Amino acid sequence: MKIIKILFVSLITVSTYAQTDAETIRTIYSSSLTNGKSYAWLDHLSNEIGGRLSGSENAEKAVAYTKAELDKLDLDKVWLQPVMVPKWVRGEKETAYIEIGTNKKINVNICALGGSIATSANGLIAEIIEVLGMEALKSMKKDEIEGKIVFLNKPMEATFIQTFKAYGGSVGQRVRGATVAAKLGAVGVIVRSMNLRLDDFPHTGTMRYGDLPSEKRIPAAAISTNDAEVLSKMLKENKGLQFYFKQSSKQYDDVQSYNVIGEITGTEFPDEYIVIGGHLDSWDLGDGSHDDGAGIVQSMDVLRLLKESGIKPKHSIRAVLFMNEENGLRGGKKYAEVAKAKGENHIFALESDSGGFTPRGFSISASDAKFDQILSWAPLFKPYLIHHFERGGGGADIGPLKNDQIVLAGLRVDSQRYFDYHHTANDTFDAINKRELELGAATITALVYLVDKYGFKDEPTN
Ligand SMILES: [Zn+2]
Repeated sequence: MKIIKILFVSLITVSTYAQTDAETIRTIYSSSLTNGKSYAWLDHLSNEIGGRLSGSENAEKAVAYTKAELDKLDLDKVWLQPVMVPKWVRGEKETAYIEIGTNKKINVNICALGGSIATSANGLIAEIIEVLGMEALKSMKKDEIEGKIVFLNKPMEATFIQTFKAYGGSVGQRVRGATVAAKLGAVGVIVRSMNLRLDDFPHTGTMRYGDLPSEKRIPAAAISTNDAEVLSKMLKENKGLQFYFKQSSKQYDDVQSYNVIGEITGTEFPDEYIVIGGHLDSWDLGDGSHDDGAGIVQSMDVLRLLKESGIKPKHSIRAVLFMNEENGLRGGKKYAEVAKAKGENHIFALESDSGGFTPRGFSISASDAKFDQILSWAPLFKPYLIHHFERGGGGADIGPLKNDQIVLAGLRVDSQRYFDYHHTANDTFDAINKRELELGAATITALVYLVDKYGFKDEPTN
């Protein structure tokens, strides 16, 4: 009898024993590193489907594939959220050269910027003038620019350790350069690729004409950093150089597409939502493994890792695979619009859109109290070398959810190599390291676990 009683007591002890947060997080990381699905999913997305530009057949294949894979996870809900997206098509491979005399030319590597119009069928040839960024361009006069191709050659700032800051400091010339140059009478724009490395890959990315009427629009392309250096050097020796480029890109009418959403419904607060996401579309030159296939498969694996770790979330947790971040943000806007219309209370949203590299931590946009609360969890992340807990933006797709209450976060990774691959032909699966990708998925899951378990404390009232 006594033995039975002792047995009974010890059974009770075992069954009521709760894992500490440190133990749960250990389980999450171990599970991701030994049984993660993110890498296999990304292999399919990258190698079987490929680049997923909005409105393309591949983008729709990616919608169908990720929906089918989420369906296999035994979630509470999986659905497609309709959204109309722009459809821009690159057309034939672009060509370009620097003319250095009669019948002498140097070929250079360019690619049309997303959203750009084509040149005429025969291409465009004109004198080219180097301008070191937007500030310099804005200070120029019409007679300096008129009839010329403007070569915007402001490099990304090499001394910034946060490479996204370097990107932010130079990307304006890619986005708005053509519009400003067109107003000064330019006939075309060539932009130095957003790349900290010197290589031969031109990097595409979105550009916008804003309110520029269609007859005033001029074609815009990116040139590789190596070729930008060559062109700049030659222009120093010969100011009147002619530059030729040809591209056949075209904008079509909007087409139907979808955000893909999977949900584990909360046990205690089913009407309070935590969102994790990335963007399902990518540029067309590579297969979009880092940008943002990585964020997609990590978000999907967060739901799977929660289940596999035996965590039953109190809040509803959604993985949202946003469509059309790159050239429109329609998916992010649509998700926020529907959430608002339904009165859904989102307490936390996290985006992974910085590449599948080694995770370092999070950038967080929150009130002081909520930020401090997240900061108090930092010691739990220390064993995984996660130490970056700083204020900053969450991500483009979750931006439209912003309000006074929600906490927005971005997974921050080692960003030194990101712009070697961003928006270009070498953003491919072979540039992904399996463990780094899996560590990212685990890091997001760990934070989601803590946010879900503790919620966010009310703001102090004073
Ligand atoms: Zn991205």
